[in-house]
Amino acid sequence: MKLQFLGAARQVTGSQYHLTADGARVLVDCGMFQERAFLGRNWEPSPIRPEKLDAVLVTHAHLDHCGLLPKLVAEGFGGPVYTTAASADLAEVLLRDSAEIQAEDAAFKRKRHRKEHRKGKYPVRPLYTLQDVNRTVRLFEPIDYDTPVAIGDGLSAVFRDAGHILGSAMIEVGADDGGRRRRLVFSGDVGQWDKPIVRDPSLFAQSDYVVMESTYGTRDHGPRGDIESRLGEIVGRTLARGGKVVIPIFAIERAQEVIYHLGRLVDAGRLPRVPVFLDSPMAVEVTEVFRRHRDLFDVEAQAMIANHNSPLGFPGLVMVGSTEESKGINGLKGPAVILATSGMCTAGRIKHHLVHTIGNAENTILFVGYQAHGTLGRQILDGNPKVRIHGRLREVRAAIERIEGFSGHADRPALLRWLGGFRQVPEQLFLTHGEEESCLALARQVRDKLGWKVSVPEYREAVELE
Ligand SMILES: [Zn+2]
Repeated sequence: MKLQFLGAARQVTGSQYHLTADGARVLVDCGMFQERAFLGRNWEPSPIRPEKLDAVLVTHAHLDHCGLLPKLVAEGFGGPVYTTAASADLAEVLLRDSAEIQAEDAAFKRKRHRKEHRKGKYPVRPLYTLQDVNRTVRLFEPIDYDTPVAIGDGLSAVFRDAGHILGSAMIEVGADDGGRRRRLVFSGDVGQWDKPIVRDPSLFAQSDYVVMESTYGTRDHGPRGDIESRLGEIVGRTLARGGKVVIPIFAIERAQEVIYHLGRLVDAGRLPRVPVFLDSPMAVEVTEVFRRHRDLFDVEAQAMIANHNSPLGFPGLVMVGSTEESKGINGLKGPAVILATSGMCTAGRIKHHLVHTIGNAENTILFVGYQAHGTLGRQILDGNPKVRIHGRLREVRAAIERIEGFSGHADRPALLRWLGGFRQVPEQLFLTHGEEESCLALARQVRDKLGWKVSVPEYREAVELE
């Protein structure tokens, strides 16, 4: 049995693992590379023969786990893509969006290169098209959690809830290898315990090999704190002075989490009923997917449904569709809450809302997600007195706030808690999906604390599993 690491090796994105057993070969995840330094890897031809694969197993719908599927299909893969029904629905939304963004980017680059009479580093064409996405979506085979699926000869897989985003899974693979039955667990992205809407991560008692993510392998999120109270405080204060709260959000999970908390605050009478706008076509679509798959929600969210309160809907919540509706929000007088994408203010409708609100001291810009270096969101958060939006410098007079603790990833203690679920020491643990230092530091700690055999594979490294 052989396992090859085709991505997420000493880096955070591009998850892709190629497993070859006696009678079957599968890919676990087929993710896009998103770090600037590794974008070129997206363009490399697949090092494996896609047409020879029996199946692809997808842990969840984030692009760094499924974003290269349409390219694999364009390269000849035609087999089933097993994933949960919720992941299939979310992946469809994300992959379409990804194809559109790539087409726009390619057109823009072609124009710029023509103007500057030069050539770029990579071919100026999209990685894949909407047609490739349509062909990919037809290959999705939705499966339920905790239900084994047979693949090829002597290989089977079971998906367990990962508690990371809706539909996310950890995958347990059983494979015949030289007359023996071997087990491998792929963690996918490990969620946080006690997160709203999604359930807690699953634990496993036994596995011969384990592949685990290590995004926050060196970080402690610290006490989660009472996110909801803090949200109520900041929003309540702004509304009381007649201002608007503008929240840059990511379309998946974060948007739904914020809506969930706002809904509970309104239901409990801790916030007044004012219009709350979800202004992002993709976030609206994703929220619809969430509502369709409410059977996957955790106990608290289920209890809200039983009490006839929708966890993702409350009086005052407006799903904004067209550009005209979005522009209409700007003319509105009086207090309101506006959630819009993109999460780091680099593009999208959030920029228009910032133009209209950032210069007024009554308003609040509230950050609930990570702001990378160099982004507009980071410039605002860093307290710059003026920021450039749509080509013009704007004075920042609105209050700037931030709530931490929304992360969808397990931190170091939670990753160790997940490993602690194993009753038997696995033969080997592979740490992936983390920056190099993070993987290496966590590896040292697991060796020291638990005495396990741990390795941190390199990109394209292949390991014989004896
Ligand atoms: Zn993820």
